Formats: sequence, structure tokens, C-alpha cells
Amino acid sequence: MTNAETPKGFGLTIDFGAAAPATEPAVATSTTAAAPTETRLLILGSGPAGLTAAIYAARAALAPIVIGGYAPGGQLMLTSEVENFPGFPEGIDGPELMAKMRAQAERFGSVMVDQDVDRVDLSAQPHRVWSAGREFRAEAIIIATGASALWLGLESETRLRGRGVSACATCDGFFFKGQEVVVVGGGDTALEEALFLTRFATKVHLVHRRETFRASKIMISRVKAHANIELHMNREVVEVLGEKSTEAVMLRDTTPGATSAPERLAAGGLFVAIGYKPNTAMLGGALPVDAAGYLQLESETSASQIDGVFIAGDVHDHRYRQAVTAAGDGCRAALDAERWLAERDASRS
Ligand code: NAP
Repeated sequence: MTNAETPKGFGLTIDFGAAAPATEPAVATSTTAAAPTETRLLILGSGPAGLTAAIYAARAALAPIVIGGYAPGGQLMLTSEVENFPGFPEGIDGPELMAKMRAQAERFGSVMVDQDVDRVDLSAQPHRVWSAGREFRAEAIIIATGASALWLGLESETRLRGRGVSACATCDGFFFKGQEVVVVGGGDTALEEALFLTRFATKVHLVHRRETFRASKIMISRVKAHANIELHMNREVVEVLGEKSTEAVMLRDTTPGATSAPERLAAGGLFVAIGYKPNTAMLGGALPVDAAGYLQLESETSASQIDGVFIAGDVHDHRYRQAVTAAGDGCRAALDAERWLAERDASRS
């Protein structure tokens, strides 16, 4: 099974929240604890996008600071086995992959700050970022804060996460070969995941809380036409059953006026596909988002609408959402930021 209950920690942590940093960072810092920390490039987020950006930027001698969150590493920290990241033919644990990316970024001089970003001010140069009471100032910023899967919010769902309960069919579907699985949701993600899971599962039960799907027509026709997908409309999962692993879910009839007791549906897996929430709250609306809340790119590059601010990974990409595409995005953002800084230097000399 894929999701680790307790993600393995990283080797090195620099906690800027304390009065003094544990290790002197390779950036220009001031002598007083209250003074801002200055750097040329700040990277927000420490998933594959943020860390790949850090590797590239550090190798370009930019000594980036990565503010990676209190739970660094992104969504892969919740996945125990990654089999589709190139270069690991035997597969690799998500936390191990992230630890390797982090070590690679640190090897070239990236500085990791394991704190959340509280707020930003991108209205003028230098751009300013506050994290745990400390201010950071940077000429360029890469926003790679990712997106978080939404969950149903059931206690049993949390307990069995990584033991049959997942939010990523692409990551975990393979492990449900020969089993019956449940997918929850009525949007494109849920229908896409249901179709994907038919490659492995003997039967996919698609559970949606309403009578009609939100997904695109073509996806609806494909799902309806598939012999191995059974629809459970007007139903919601109210409990996941199982001690050590998922064995079944309890489905409640959501039809107005329905009074029947919840029914048991046997399944070895539950895929929750009720949407993602891009992690943009800390930006306070500084950058435009689309209808689903994802950041928007200004052009075919990683540039945002704000000069010197670049975007990478799931915080803007709701189409691919893969570790490898996020890593590629991080590379693009670092190259764009590097070029932008070089042009800025040239224009000032
Ligand atoms: P979405 O369109 O917001 O759909 C979320 C679904 O989950 C809805 O059907 C919603 O039900 C249901 N839901 C939400 N909260 C729930 C809860 N607590 N319990 C049960 N069900 C719940 O999200 P998405 O499917 O992730 O898609 C997000 C965006 O990405 C969309 O614009 C979508 O078109 C796009 N997308 C595109 C592709 C593609 O082009 N290949 C693939 C995936 C996603 P209700 O309908 O009742 O609200």
C-alpha cells in the first residue's frame, strides 16, 4: 500500500523560528534577530517543484532560501511507494525521494527553512515574505506551494489513510489489482480516476452525492459506458470500515426524505476525488487565480503577472499533477528566475 502513516523526516532542519538559526545560512543575513533575511531568490514550497527549482538555482550559485513549510516535502510525503518517477526502476518511497531531492538541493547551497509562509508583500522590490515572525526579502520569488487534496473529514478515513484510503489513483491504483474499489466524487477528477482504476480493479464503484455529475459530458459518457464501473448516485460515504486495512464503506442515501439506514459496500480501496485546494491563502490575493483557485501563468514561461515572481507545480497545474511534471516545472521556474536576475544585473551595470 502506498501512503505512509508517519512520513520519515528529513536529515537537516534549519529552524529560523528560533532566535538564531541553527546553522549560518549561505546568504546575506543581518546581525539582529528582528532584521530581515535577504536573498536573491526565495522559493516557497518544498515539494518536487520547489526542490527542483532549488537544485537548479543553487547550481547557478543563487544560494536560494526554500521556505518549505512545517511539513516539508509536499504530497509525496504521504505516499509510501512511487513507481513512476524516472530513475527508480524498483520504485522509491515518497519520503525517501523527497529526502534525496532535498539533500541534492542542500549539496549545492540551498538553505531550508521548515516553516510555513504566513503572508507576502509582492507590491514592490524587494519582495517580502513573512514566516513565523521573521521577514525575508528577495529580488525573485518562485511560488511552488502545491495543492492539497480535499478529504471527506471522517475519522475512519483519516485512520485508514495509507491503508486502502487514498486521494491519488495514478499513484496508488496499481496496488488494487484484482480488488473492488470505491471512488467518491462527481467531477472530472473522480471520473478520470474511476476510469483509470478499471485497469487494475475488478470493479469500480463510483459514489456521488447528487443525481447529476459535475464532470464534462465526454467523461460522463465514458464512465456510463464502462462495464466495470457501477454508479451509486445520491449516496455518500459516512464511514470506512476495517481495522488494519480498508474492507468496506458505509453508504448513506442522500435523496431528500430518504430514511433508510446506511448500507455496507465491500471494497479494498477508497479513492477520495472531491477536488484539490491550491495552497495560495498566504498570497492574500496578490496574484490572479482561475475559477478553481489555481494561480495563472502570464505566458508560456513560468512568469506570473508580477515582475520577478514565478510559479511552479500544482499550485497552478490542475491538469497533470504529477511529481515529475512538478519537478519539470520547478526547473523551468529556476531557469526563468535565473535569467530574470541576470537581466536585472545587466540593466543595473
Ligand atoms: P470539482 O470539479 O470541484 O468536483 C468535485 C466533486 O466532488 C463534485 O462533484 C462535488 O460534488 C464532490 N464533492 C465535493 N465535496 C464533497 C464532499 N464533502 N463529499 C462528497 N462529494 C464531494 O473538482 P475536480 O474534479 O478535482 O476538478 C477540478 C477542476 O479541474 C475542474 O475544473 C475540472 O474540470 C478540472 N479537471 C480537468 C481534468 C481534465 O481536463 N482532464 C481532469 C481533472 C480535473 P457536487 O458536484 O455535488 O458539488
